[in-house]
Amino acid sequence: PKDRDKIMSQWIITVQPQSISNKIYIFLIGVITLFSLFILYRYFSTLIRSNILKELSETDQLTNISNRRKALEDIQRHIDLSNRYSHHLSLIYFDIDNFKIINDHYGHKTGDYVLSELADLIKKHIRKTDSFGRWGGEEFIISSPESSLDDTNKMASILKTEIQQHDFKLQKKVTCSFGITSYQKGESLDSFINRADKAMYRAKHSGKDCIVILQTKS
Ligand code: GH3
Ligand code: MG
Ligand code: MG
Repeated sequence: PKDRDKIMSQWIITVQPQSISNKIYIFLIGVITLFSLFILYRYFSTLIRSNILKELSETDQLTNISNRRKALEDIQRHIDLSNRYSHHLSLIYFDIDNFKIINDHYGHKTGDYVLSELADLIKKHIRKTDSFGRWGGEEFIISSPESSLDDTNKMASILKTEIQQHDFKLQKKVTCSFGITSYQKGESLDSFINRADKAMYRAKHSGKDCIVILQTKS
């Protein structure tokens, strides 16, 4: 037994420090793993949150299309590409006719419904590369890269007909007035948009529910 005790004490002395260091080792691995998981969680949650915030800051809440800020950003990007590669770029600026009457007759909620329904309808008929935004109120803008004035006129005619024929579940038809223009190399964003806006106002003064093309700088 004396020998046994001797052996045991030797065994304890040699084995115990190893088991403690194993425990510390496992503990450290656990801490590092937990810490890494925490860092990953923080990274991805921040990424998701910033993407959501970016999306929110660029989206019109009622229609779910681009807001004015994002539309402006897109048009500027299209302008830069058009200047760089001398490619066509056109704008369609349109405004719902007599929208105030729709609001007055059916209420603001129905007016909201018409706006979002119209945005959904337009989305179905434009190209993936087009930018479509709500300019404000009942006014919308489409920036269409690689589209000549002629292509854009055809596109606006399709949109005009689609809107006229769409069932908005009102007793009266919904129509829009369209202004279209094409980009002239080197001109500013403001000048380009103002011309499309001017074309749309001419469409209003020509009796509404029509398309006016304005090509020259003015
Ligand atoms: P026009 O044919 O000349 O464009 O006449 P309009 O009645 O469409 O234009 P007007 O500028 O007189 O009226 C626009 C109306 O759009 C007034 C405003 O209250 C309404 N409006 C703007 N934004 C919204 C919105 O988000 N929801 C609803 N329901 N109405 C809106
Ligand atoms: Mg209007
Ligand atoms: Mg308006």
